[in-house]
Order: sequence, then C-alpha cells, then structure tokens
Amino acid sequence: MVQRQTRDQRKYRTSVIIVGTGFSGLGMAIRLKWAGISDFIVLEKAADLGGTWRDNTYPGCACDVPSLMYSFSFEQNSSWSRMFARQGEISDYLQHCADKYRVRDHIHYGVEFTGAEYDEDANTWTVSTADGTEYVGRALVSGVGALHIPSYPELPGVEGFEGEVFHSAEWNHDFGLAGKRVAVIGTGASAIQFVPRIAKEVARLHLFQRTPPWIQPKPDRPIPESVQRLFRNVPLLQRAARAALYWTLEARYFAVFNRRLGKLAEQLSKRYIRKAVKDPKVRAAVTPDYAMGCKRILLSSDYYPALNRSNVDLVTSGVAEVRSRSVVTGDGEEHEVDAIIYGTGFHVTDAFDHLSIVGRDGRKLQDAWRNGMEAYLGMTVSGFPNLFFLLGPNTGLGHNSVVFMIESQINYVLSCLRPICRDEVGQIDVRKSVQDAFNAEIQSELADEVWSAGGCRSWYLDENGVNRTIWPGFTWKYWQRTRKADMADYETTAGQSR
Ligand code: NAP
Repeated sequence: MVQRQTRDQRKYRTSVIIVGTGFSGLGMAIRLKWAGISDFIVLEKAADLGGTWRDNTYPGCACDVPSLMYSFSFEQNSSWSRMFARQGEISDYLQHCADKYRVRDHIHYGVEFTGAEYDEDANTWTVSTADGTEYVGRALVSGVGALHIPSYPELPGVEGFEGEVFHSAEWNHDFGLAGKRVAVIGTGASAIQFVPRIAKEVARLHLFQRTPPWIQPKPDRPIPESVQRLFRNVPLLQRAARAALYWTLEARYFAVFNRRLGKLAEQLSKRYIRKAVKDPKVRAAVTPDYAMGCKRILLSSDYYPALNRSNVDLVTSGVAEVRSRSVVTGDGEEHEVDAIIYGTGFHVTDAFDHLSIVGRDGRKLQDAWRNGMEAYLGMTVSGFPNLFFLLGPNTGLGHNSVVFMIESQINYVLSCLRPICRDEVGQIDVRKSVQDAFNAEIQSELADEVWSAGGCRSWYLDENGVNRTIWPGFTWKYWQRTRKADMADYETTAGQSR
C-alpha cells in the first residue's frame, strides 16, 4: 500500500513512482491497479490531471487523430461527439478514466519532478521535486512525454515589447482579442487550429510563416446520436469500427511515407491549395517545397479559408526586430501589434536536459544522451535500471495514434514491474549491446526515410540531424516487439524473495 504519510514528513516510500498524468501516466496507473499492484504514486506538477490535453486550451484545440483511435483500447468511449474530438472532450475522457479506474487517490498534485538518483545498494530510485519532497521507489516510470515545455523563439528586442505575449500552450484567456492587432509566430499543428478561430475576432492578424506545412482537409463531422447509441448498445460494433480505422491509418503510413504514393498525396494537397486559397501570391507562399511527411502532415479544412480573409496577412519575410508596439519584418516593414502569440511548438529532443537523472555509478542521463537521446524500444536505457520511459525516444508517430504506442509500452513495462514489485528481481538493466543493436537497426531504417531525406528541418531531428522521435514503421510491428519483455535483453539481479 501507499504509505499514508503527511506532506510534512517530506519523504514517501512506494514500489512504483509514475511521473505525469497524461495518457501515459494515467494508463500506467490504471494497468498497475488491474495487475493488483496498488503500491504506487503518481506525481503531477499541475493542480489537475490530463497532461497536454489539460495544458493546451487555445481556441480550436482538437485532436488530429480520429477519436475512435485516440482513446484507450480498454475504455472505448461510445460518446465521442465528433470524428475528431476537441480538447475539452479529451480532457473529460481522461478525468472519466481516472474516476472509473479509481487512480485519483494515487496522484500527488503540485509536485514537480526535478530529477532522480538510483541507489544500487538498495535498488531504489530517489525522486527529487521542486518543493523538496522526496519519493523513494523501486521503479520509476516517466510519463512526461515530449510536448510539454513550450519553445519560445529568440526574437531580437522582444523584451522591450509592451503588448501581450503568450504561447499557444499557455493561452491567456483573460486577454480579449476582439478588435486587437495580433502577430502569430509559427504555422504548425497548433497555429493552424487557432488561427481560423481568432481571425474572426481580431482586427488584424499578421501570420509569420517560416516553413509552410503540408495540409490535407480534415474529414471532421459530428458523430450522430444514433451512431453513439449503436456503439453503446453493441460495443462489438465500435470495436470493429476501431479496428477498421486502425488498419486505415496503418495504410496511411504506406501511402504517405512511400515516395511514389507520397508524390500522389502531394498532388492532391496542391490541388486543395489551388481550390482553397484565392490569392496566387499566398497560394505560392503556402505551397511547401519539401517532401510531404518530412514534417507532421496537418489536417484542417478552415486554415486556408482563413488566409483569404481581408484582415489576415501572411508574412514570410521573417521577424527582424520587435519594438515596443510593433514587429519589424526582414524586408523592413513595421507591423503595429497589440499582442504576439507564439505557435512555435515545444522542446522535444532536448526535453530531458533540464532534469537531473543519475543512474548506476553516478552516470547522468545527459551524459548518456550527449550524442542524442536513445533507448531500447524507446523505453529502457542502459545504466539506468528499473527506469522506464513511456513515449520515449523514437516512439512518436506521424500516421497513427500514439495511444496505441503508449498501450504497447505499458504492457511491456508491466511485464518488468511485476517481478520488481514481487521482489523477485532487484534490478533490471538493459544490456548496452542490445540497446546499441536496436538503435543501429532503427537509424539505418530512418536514414533514407522522408523525415531525414525529405528536404526539411523539423523537430523530429536533433541538432545533429538524427531522427530521435519517430518510430520507423508500422505500429503493429512495434506492438509485436513489445508484447512482453525478454529478460535475456537485460542484466538482472535477484530480489529479496528469491
Ligand atoms: P510545431 O508543429 O513544431 O510548429 C511550430 C511552428 O513554429 C512551425 O511553423 C515553426 O516553423 C515555427 N517556428 C518555430 N520556431 C520559430 C522561430 N524561431 N521563428 C519563426 N517560426 C518558428 O508546434 P505546434 O504547432 O505547437 O505542434 C507541436 C506538436 O504538437 C505537433 O507536431 C503535434 O505532434 C502536437 N500537436 C498535436 C495536435 C493534435 O491534434 N494531435 C494538435 C496540436 C499539436 P518551422 O516549420 O520553420 O520550424
């Protein structure tokens, strides 16, 4: 059982410490409980659960993966109101999962994970937190994901700007946009969702595009009540619909990331641009010059129409300088603005740099990842026993639902946590040779793929141009490899109960 200590004691002991309450952390907590392991604590930096779906509340925030697939396989929601759920509905779904599977009592809110140190004699991780409270556990599971540290561009002079400034992931809802002149920096997945919404409200919108994304129309529509009822009454039908959708999305991998078919998809998107964007100059500016799939392919049916509005101005000459009330572009033009909104994404390949994680023999994770972050199957790192990453290196996707990857990982991690919690093994540490062979294999597959060879620069790649984020292939292949941990891949020590 979780030791019921008061916060004043500032030290908790448990079997498993989970960090984060997004799909990863919550899913891990639920599956642990199912497995009969209730001695675990979940740390959450915020005052509520939900991860990225709690933080991102910008106007128009929604998922670009169909709702049927963007949910746990064990909790298929028959009440999704749309083909692509909006932020509030996904956030409510996570709250519902926490209640239904009774994991709320395990969550410690307002606890910011700052680092962890492994004690090889005791086979425990000691987790440090921002307020000084310590947590000691036999295993540590990171469910922090990679999209939670907003990336702020370094715009010259921005510190002297007197207007309002905020990031899409930290939307200031108290700032009324009606009638304001606004600069939006970035045209990625978040910006293309909020631009059409705020364009209707603001007096003027200067949209700063560095690289145009490839965009396909979003086949979003309400799911009729009759279909929701059918799913509720015949759950097998919903499972069949989900399975069909899964294989359709898997086929998308083939369709987009296969060069020849990718060209066809590019032609379709270009045709969509021709149809949707009126101004030939804007049309040319939003047409990408790199291969589709190199960056995340975006879905939207209202972004291009928003660019046709007379109050929206697409700027491609870059930001040269920010003055107290304006943004000056590379061509010397000065745009007066009341607010700057960053749609500039997140720290991804450097997401763990600010944490102090120390494994065996005092080895720091930053040192282990000096040449780029890598793990075995995206989950375990040699020299860091009993530490598991959910959605770790090279397990992100461009074509299917990451919730599928998360569930595959939870299964795998659970097969390691069971013997640890029963004290049958003391520590499990992935063999360096196994980790190296795995990474050599996936990097050789990734080298010729569109993410590296498609002629773009994206956050999928680290500073050395190596893809550290994407799983190179079909997700069923990942599922197949992660059904159960093979202990031959690990160096293990016996636990006390042996
Ligand atoms: P993003 O896709 O990384 O886009 C960032 C945008 O900001 C890009 O257009 C980028 O231009 C631009 N940018 C970055 N730094 C800049 C700078 N210094 N100066 C000018 N422009 C700059 O970020 P995001 O839109 O927040 O999305 C991040 C990820 O979150 C997505 O890829 C996706 O995985 C996830 N997301 C998912 C959904 C969903 O529906 N499931 C929705 C939103 C977000 P360049 O392209 O030139 O770098």
